Amino acid sequence: MASRTSGRIAIAGGGIGGLACALGLARRGIASVVLEQAQSFGEVGVGLQVAPNALAVLDALGVGQEAKKNALLIERLVVRDSVGGETVFDVPVGAAFRERFGNPYAVAHRADIHGALLRGCEAYPSIELRTRSRVVDFESHDAGVSVRLASGEVVAAAGLVGADGVRSQVRAKIVGDGEPVAVGAYIYRALIPADVMPKDEHKPYPTLWVGPGTHVIYYPVRDWSVFNFGATVLAGSVDRGEAEAAPDEALAWFPGHHPDLMRILRLPARFNRYIIRHRPPVERWTAGRVTLLGDAAHPMVQYLAQGAAMALEDAICLANAVAETPGDVERALARYQDLRIVRATRVQMSSLMLDKFYHARGVERLVRNSVFEGRTPEEFYDRLSWLYRSPAYVRG
Ligand SMILES: Cc1cc2nc3c(=O)[nH]c(=O)nc-3n(C[C@H](O)[C@H](O)[C@H](O)COP(=O)(O)OP(=O)(O)OC[C@H]3O[C@@H](n4cnc5c(N)ncnc54)[C@H](O)[C@@H]3O)c2cc1C
Repeated sequence: MASRTSGRIAIAGGGIGGLACALGLARRGIASVVLEQAQSFGEVGVGLQVAPNALAVLDALGVGQEAKKNALLIERLVVRDSVGGETVFDVPVGAAFRERFGNPYAVAHRADIHGALLRGCEAYPSIELRTRSRVVDFESHDAGVSVRLASGEVVAAAGLVGADGVRSQVRAKIVGDGEPVAVGAYIYRALIPADVMPKDEHKPYPTLWVGPGTHVIYYPVRDWSVFNFGATVLAGSVDRGEAEAAPDEALAWFPGHHPDLMRILRLPARFNRYIIRHRPPVERWTAGRVTLLGDAAHPMVQYLAQGAAMALEDAICLANAVAETPGDVERALARYQDLRIVRATRVQMSSLMLDKFYHARGVERLVRNSVFEGRTPEEFYDRLSWLYRSPAYVRG
């Protein structure tokens, strides 16, 4: 039996993108129901870089202060060469950066960002938060959308937003491009207790090591109690699947890497191996009253650390479009796609292009390192401006 029909929007998926969308809609007076497949709302226990364009959305959603309270506002962006150990670049992101982009650059535990959004949503009675509600299908009709759950229940809504991640069920129906593509890389992720991390690595910023076919990043989260750690390796056709990995498994990918990096890779920690996936960009996310948001729309490799930021920007853009086009969900969702598709796709493409920069070998590695020699912080900011300066629909 169908549940009550109304002007509310159904959102498949209660990750960062889905919750931000519900909160953005609520702040503009629009009701929504969030349909999350999991038993509870939550995020896996790893870190997230939260660039100024992401923080600007959290501010606009009224949860910026809470998100920043638990985040580390970093002082620099540092990249080191994994072979020679030299610094490729070291860019301060203090006062001048904050003034230029309106916000600091932060690192945080994912659960803290997701938690701030969840508490924001819980404060609005117009948001219905449902767990154990896996979306399996939908039908559009003149008056709205009927969203079918795995239980057989049908939820009626004026429109449907697929914020259901990289394996989106909603995308399967409106884009139909099958499974996401493995890019031939793994990431080994861990939380390293601060007391085992060497003291000289306790720095108030992320350290990113770039090497031939590898890159590694680590930074402190949760009041410096743990370090978020991720080691990405290009594995070619090696097929190992996703699982907990033996502590020394990742080491095999790092022959000839710098001793400062090797000592971090040898720290005792529980590593989990994940396959890195993406999808090639598509020209259409919206079909009538149904659209996609976040990873469901433009899943990207994590190299630019912007996937969640793009989901947040999508969310506020979509909420504004719906609010500014009362009673016409189809036009609102078409407008949302028009406003977002070039920027989000540019970020998706740029993320993949960083593969060449991060993982350069031989003389290409030397060229990479030389490119940044003598570049001033202002020159870095100029080149990053397209990304970190928020679009008008966020600032407005
Ligand atoms: C290793 C790694 C590091 C990253 N680092 C960064 C970073 O530093 N900064 C950054 O901005 N981004 C980063 N990202 C990207 C970021 O994690 C994602 O882009 C972001 O989480 C996408 O949010 P989302 O809400 O679109 O999707 P998700 O977070 O995947 O949420 C989807 C939600 O939908 C639910 N769901 C799925 N299917 C259904 C269904 N059929 N019905 C109902 N519910 C469903 C899921 O349970 C989940 O709760 C990283 C990604 C990876 C893999």
